[in-house]
Amino acid sequence: MSKVLVIGAGGVGSVAVHKMAKWPDMFSEITLASRRVAKCDAIATSVKSRTGVSITTSELDADNVEATTRLIEKTGASLVVNLALPYQDLNIMEACLAAGADYLDTANYEPLDEAKFEYHWQWAYQERFKKAGLTALLGSGFDPGVTNVFTAYIAKHHIQNMQTLDILDCNSGDHGQHFATNFNPEINIREVTAPARHWQDGAWVETPALSHKQTFDFPQVGNRNMYLMYHEELESLSKHFPELTRARFWMTFGDAYLTHLNVLENIGMTSIEPIIYEGQEIVPLQFLKAVLPEPSGLGETTKGKTCIGNIISGTHEGRPKTVYLYNVCDHEACFAEVGSQAVSFTTGVPAMIGASLILDKSWRKPGVWNMEQFDPDPFMDRLNIYGLPWHITELPAALDF
Ligand code: NDP
Repeated sequence: MSKVLVIGAGGVGSVAVHKMAKWPDMFSEITLASRRVAKCDAIATSVKSRTGVSITTSELDADNVEATTRLIEKTGASLVVNLALPYQDLNIMEACLAAGADYLDTANYEPLDEAKFEYHWQWAYQERFKKAGLTALLGSGFDPGVTNVFTAYIAKHHIQNMQTLDILDCNSGDHGQHFATNFNPEINIREVTAPARHWQDGAWVETPALSHKQTFDFPQVGNRNMYLMYHEELESLSKHFPELTRARFWMTFGDAYLTHLNVLENIGMTSIEPIIYEGQEIVPLQFLKAVLPEPSGLGETTKGKTCIGNIISGTHEGRPKTVYLYNVCDHEACFAEVGSQAVSFTTGVPAMIGASLILDKSWRKPGVWNMEQFDPDPFMDRLNIYGLPWHITELPAALDF
């Protein structure tokens, strides 16, 4: 009997509960809670029609620690899967400690009034989770998440001395909208407009946002422009694999997306500084989010594929070696299975797999952990079983850019 409470009824939450419902031996009782219960109810209806499984729904403001604690106790959940927004991470961790439940999320904490995502706020909970005998698994999405596990897997099986890591995130999907983001618009735009940062010889190198472009030929997708960015897994991977002399993250963007973003930035619509509008304080980026399409509604029209993976170079058994480990996911196939596009799918499935590894105790260990700190093998096996099969190939040489 494993009771689980999922918080957040967005694109990612929807995929995670659909996948959990398909595995009743592992997830025997599922409660989905979110700010608006109507969104939970719509997902519950879809889960029932696709899988025959009934899930419980509840309205919850997860910023309210007492209310969240009460709901964990009421549901009897041994694990809380936080698929709300990064702003809720610390409050939900507090509620897990108060109610005695394990914790999992897919994005690290970010203060609402500062676009600064760093792990130190959540790593500070290490001793409290350890003392309480509870597990907190951080970043169990695709990136962070699968990309961390890919790194651990390559270190374990393929490259004895890793030197450089490049994470390449390509979304070639077309949703037919002039401008929309594939996950929460506010979080997405805060991430994309932040300065780029990569790890080089033991220090962070900062460059202006979207100022470094490369073209890469992605498997099953073809040539796409990708841009150097900062991404949160670089922080934990450079800490846990200190042998890496360079760690970078790249993401593809189409020209139309960048043109729209440029205009929105130039006119101040991506700002998180509050302004007064007709006597009321509003945050321009939050207003922009309200007028953009909801990512969870993009599934029906999105066509194309995602291709996300790691290229790692180093030496193995005395010779230079470069491997590329990646997954390709098709937007339309995801929609047919769970009613969501591939960006939600590639995040919701790893959240479900991480949850299963805590529940069956393979990855249950008191404390606060990043994904690369556990044995990658059971996670890699479950990716193949539950819809995100991966491919590994040896490249003739290291990246030359
Ligand atoms: P959405 O905005 O679609 O969903 C978030 C959900 O959380 C919404 O239903 C929202 O409610 C709910 N919510 C927000 N605040 C609260 C609150 N205070 N209490 C309860 N519920 C709340 O986002 P996504 O599904 O796209 O993303 C979910 C998470 O996954 C985010 O943290 C995102 O950063 C992360 N992510 C991680 C990725 C990875 O690879 N690691 C990739 C993509 C996303 P409402 O509907 O009322 O707004």
